[in-house]
Amino acid sequence: MEAIACEIESGYAWSEQQRVGCAVGGVYTALAIERVLPIMHCGPGCEGNIDSVMARTNGGQNADTYFESVIPSTNFCEADVVFGGQERLRKLVDDSLRFYDADMFIIIDGCTAEIVGDDIEEVARGFEDARVPVLFASLPGFKGNNLWGHSQILSAIIDQYLPAQAGVINPKQVNVLGVVPFYDTFWAATLEKLENTLRELGLEPNIIYGRRHGLANLDKIPNAGFNLVLSPWVDIDIAQKLESKYGTPFLHYPAVPAGPTETAKFIRAVTEYAGLDRIKAEHYIREAEERYYYYVNRSIRWIFTCRVQPKEFYINSSAVQALSLTRFLVNDLGFIPRRIFINENVPEEHHGTIREYFKELELDDPESIEIIFTADGGLCDQYVKSEDTTFRKTVVLGTTWDELTAKVLRIPFVPVSAPYGDVIVGLKTYFGYDGGLALMTDIYNDAANKGMGTVN
Ligand code: SF4
Repeated sequence: MEAIACEIESGYAWSEQQRVGCAVGGVYTALAIERVLPIMHCGPGCEGNIDSVMARTNGGQNADTYFESVIPSTNFCEADVVFGGQERLRKLVDDSLRFYDADMFIIIDGCTAEIVGDDIEEVARGFEDARVPVLFASLPGFKGNNLWGHSQILSAIIDQYLPAQAGVINPKQVNVLGVVPFYDTFWAATLEKLENTLRELGLEPNIIYGRRHGLANLDKIPNAGFNLVLSPWVDIDIAQKLESKYGTPFLHYPAVPAGPTETAKFIRAVTEYAGLDRIKAEHYIREAEERYYYYVNRSIRWIFTCRVQPKEFYINSSAVQALSLTRFLVNDLGFIPRRIFINENVPEEHHGTIREYFKELELDDPESIEIIFTADGGLCDQYVKSEDTTFRKTVVLGTTWDELTAKVLRIPFVPVSAPYGDVIVGLKTYFGYDGGLALMTDIYNDAANKGMGTVN
């Protein structure tokens, strides 16, 4: 309860229809790097609170190298508020170094430790000679949401762990940024498929999160030929930091490509930027498109005869999913956007550029598209409920919260962002050519089920 009350006061997360976590959610960025173990210096409920929106109810995810239940924590309590918890933290770090097998520890504090002034930097400095690196990152929920926390973790790694200078630059190596592990429900499969695509184009992708990616990948970061940021705004700060520290240039591509139009555009952009073999890239696109349309054609009769054919959509989601999926739905499926709600506290300085990205659409009047930045996750549902959905032409893409509205109205719904729902996400992703097919089938299948009354 304490944790929830704090979050409400911070204004970054909500006890009702929560769609982002507080800054402590950055812990999942650390947990996504193999054999990196956070040490929590915050209240006993903090991790559990962000776990629900970012992991457990976000596609049935849990951390892999270290389950959430084994993360060491001081469980900051009343006595620590009065006397300070620094000594207990020091002892916990010492014990963790003795009993846990990890390649790196990151001390993370939350609101209460920050408010009473515990100095986690000083504690971390006391372990400079430890057998593995001990870093620190302050993640009080009153300073920002999980995306801010994510940035703090990456900054800590760059500032405290990576060397001052790069080694030998590998022009083919590209560090992949912009995909936020766990918060982006599809992160694991997206990164796996993206890695394969970049490799096929002739690059050596360096991905730091997920299976078989750990400290060896962190160590390679300074030596990249360039960084790739795949998001409208997240991780641009990290790419800029790497640029100023190592001089690494970066390619900013604002969407995670879904479907043939955007994926081909992305491949051409990467090929051009990195000076790759154009003939090879065009061959890749041709083969992938031929395969994509083969599978579309195999379903075309069903789509045309389906009693319920959605033509318009609402999105209530993160900025990256909203942009990526809108481009596919408009440019490949010919759908019309009704309203786009972006609900992850995007800093105001990015609003203008994000609105511009939405204009790159094959619409008669792309200026007319309505983009709403809001902290009110329920606003979209209010609009959808006010629509006349008698003929069920509308599809809603959002979180499991929006599913409730779609069920009541019996209109098609597809979950696309956190919290995704109490289901297992597995290897699902809407990235690339296969991703476009997957989204298309998800939309039409739900439309058919709702239209035929097989879903209540
Ligand atoms: S860090 Fe602060 S806002 Fe986040 S759960 Fe803990 S007490 Fe609440």
